Amino acid sequence: MDRFKKKFSIMMKFTLELSNLSTCKRRGQGAIIIQSDFSAVPAIGYNGPAAGLSNDFCTNQISKCGCAHAEANAIGKLGHYPYRSLVMLCTEDPCSACANAIINCGKIGLFISFMPYSDSSGVFRITEAGILFERLNTNNPDTLHVLKNGVLSSIQRRMTALTNGVRNQ
Ligand SMILES: [Zn+2]
Ligand SMILES: [Zn+2]
Repeated sequence: MDRFKKKFSIMMKFTLELSNLSTCKRRGQGAIIIQSDFSAVPAIGYNGPAAGLSNDFCTNQISKCGCAHAEANAIGKLGHYPYRSLVMLCTEDPCSACANAIINCGKIGLFISFMPYSDSSGVFRITEAGILFERLNTNNPDTLHVLKNGVLSSIQRRMTALTNGVRNQ
């Protein structure tokens, strides 16, 4: 396994493991924000009731369970970073509200989703705003070597471009 794939696989596993910390009654989601050269993980997040609230604040209702989402929780902990220099990995596509937070924080240049989400408006919105988007369509890190659609090489090219400070649409 080449070096990039090995590093990416470790970050993917970390993201998936974070979803196991979720306190949402519906399902767990994980998100991490990394530097494009894998040198740091500036923020992590998973979904659940807002800090300090009881887990009963999750109503267990579809798309209105009341939990804070993984992406929003990660963005809330981000320090100062250059404009669109960071990469977010998330177990699913962003919802509409998280898409707005991702755009407005100004620090995410590439969003990598593992699996689709029922509402595609979030993906539409971040791509309209010029944030690069990739989806693996798998949440199994052990299948990275058999992904045939070139998504991993596209991710590698885009992360390298971010590291070099080059915007590469
Ligand atoms: Zn919930
Ligand atoms: Zn969301």
